[in-house]
Amino acid sequence: MRKRSSSGTPSSPSSSEASVFVVSDGESEAFDPSGASESSPEPEAVSEPESEPRGAKRKRAAPTPKGKGKAKAEIIDIEDLGSSVHRPHARGYHSTAAVAGAQDALLDWFEGVRDARGMPWRKRYDAALSMDAKGQRAYEIWVSEVMLQQTQVATVIPFWTSWIARWPTIGDLATADVEEVNAAWRGLGYYRRARSLLDGAKAVAGKKSFGGRLPDDPDVLEKEIPGVGRYTAGAITSMAYGVRAPIVDGNVHRVLSRLLALHAPQTAPATIRFLWDAATVLVDALPRGQGRGIAGDWNQALMELGATVCRPTAPECGACPLEQVCKARAELQAPPPPPATPTCDLCAPIPAPDGAETIPSVTVFPMKKEKKASREEHEAVCVTEWRGPEGPKWLFTKRPEKGLLAGLYEPPSTPVAASSSDKDKLAASLATLADLLDSHEVTSHVTHTPVPHIFSHINMTYHVQHAVLESDEPPTLKSDRAAWLDADDVAAANVGTGVKKVWAGVYGAWGRFAAGKGVKPAPQKAKPKAKPRAKDTPKGRGLTQTKLSLAGPKVKAE
Ligand code: SF4
Ligand SMILES: [Zn+2]
Repeated sequence: MRKRSSSGTPSSPSSSEASVFVVSDGESEAFDPSGASESSPEPEAVSEPESEPRGAKRKRAAPTPKGKGKAKAEIIDIEDLGSSVHRPHARGYHSTAAVAGAQDALLDWFEGVRDARGMPWRKRYDAALSMDAKGQRAYEIWVSEVMLQQTQVATVIPFWTSWIARWPTIGDLATADVEEVNAAWRGLGYYRRARSLLDGAKAVAGKKSFGGRLPDDPDVLEKEIPGVGRYTAGAITSMAYGVRAPIVDGNVHRVLSRLLALHAPQTAPATIRFLWDAATVLVDALPRGQGRGIAGDWNQALMELGATVCRPTAPECGACPLEQVCKARAELQAPPPPPATPTCDLCAPIPAPDGAETIPSVTVFPMKKEKKASREEHEAVCVTEWRGPEGPKWLFTKRPEKGLLAGLYEPPSTPVAASSSDKDKLAASLATLADLLDSHEVTSHVTHTPVPHIFSHINMTYHVQHAVLESDEPPTLKSDRAAWLDADDVAAANVGTGVKKVWAGVYGAWGRFAAGKGVKPAPQKAKPKAKPRAKDTPKGRGLTQTKLSLAGPKVKAE
């Protein structure tokens, strides 16, 4: 199942924006709202006294998962937060009843803004359409939803338009190959999303019972189509097929947290379950009949409200059609009514200045998410340039089809320890070349300034070597993951941003292929001996030193 992640500052103001819960593709942090499923670990309820002195400091842990499962609760230590707003309340305070009573107001508002952002995939639901026509819309919505993960609407529109022009139907997409879809995805990033579309199209094409369409049952969609999670299944089926399926993406998470004044750890299973349950109740409460009661409209209206009005910062409450029923808005004036029943087991205290009796802003909802520390990683990257009669060419390898930067091309790279010496890093690069190439000789090499590159969960440092090989023929490849690419091939290769930065460190910019004054063809005769030569040393940007000796590591592999 595809995972989406959540952040305290929900992100891309996309559309139908699946923004905050982003797809985890190895390049981003994973968070699965469907952790609210029945199999998720139960949170441990933390009871609070019915009342306590205002501004008192208390220790409180957010709901902690118990039993099996990987979900981790965010641990909140009130000692770290200082004083908090005194807002004892029962869980029933978070009822959806008032919002359900105001659904018409939001649906009316949505009618006025439905076309404001010019999203070509946003089409009014029409119950009279054939299943094939609805299936076509399902495909179009699916493509848009996948593109919108971590990407804004304005960026997605041209990509979506050219994608649909190239693969007008899901059947057309099923015949594409991964290189084509990666190429069409270039510029959107997170290539694993493109792969998930291709895999999903092939799954549809491979199952006769689907009739060449994405299924209209959200459970089947989630189970049978690779990469489709609960959110996307709800979005596709509610918008294209008119199914009463709820959705909770980052925008809906934020809007519901504010409407219901829920201040609970964002990724805690109990929080996620609560929000999915609330979204389900609201979809069920929609008026029956055609037109107004369409769940797809309601879902899009909630997302649109989150993207354009109830934004992460500076929400425009005065322009909000749900202002009258918004509990966050009401709490600006007064705390919740004192509870007659046991206190809420979901909410954590809201930090506030000493003595505060009301919340300082509606933006205290949803509760801020603690940022997970990124891990440090280091890789030795060897930009390997062969110079010969047909040269120059560059050695690239294709990354595995799963994991970080899946299926993309890169110069030979290998992980190294942060503490490894320059000599060790060079040795690691040369050992990688020996794994990839038959007999070869490194004629010269240059160490460039390390290149930092930040992924959502990894602080990567690339330690860059530029190695030059000169011979009559490019050395024979020992690995089917490796290839010698000429300048045109390199320019057309699907590579990540980190590779472009590394390349720029060596050649000055991505798309430039020779250092300094250009590449000199090698002499016809092979060099007798591997030895760094000053005259071959490229004058790349960020050059730090050329002292690394070839004497230590073996540079000639037989
Ligand atoms: S009133 Fe304000 S906080 Fe409440 S839902 Fe509307 S924009 Fe969001
Ligand atoms: Zn609560």
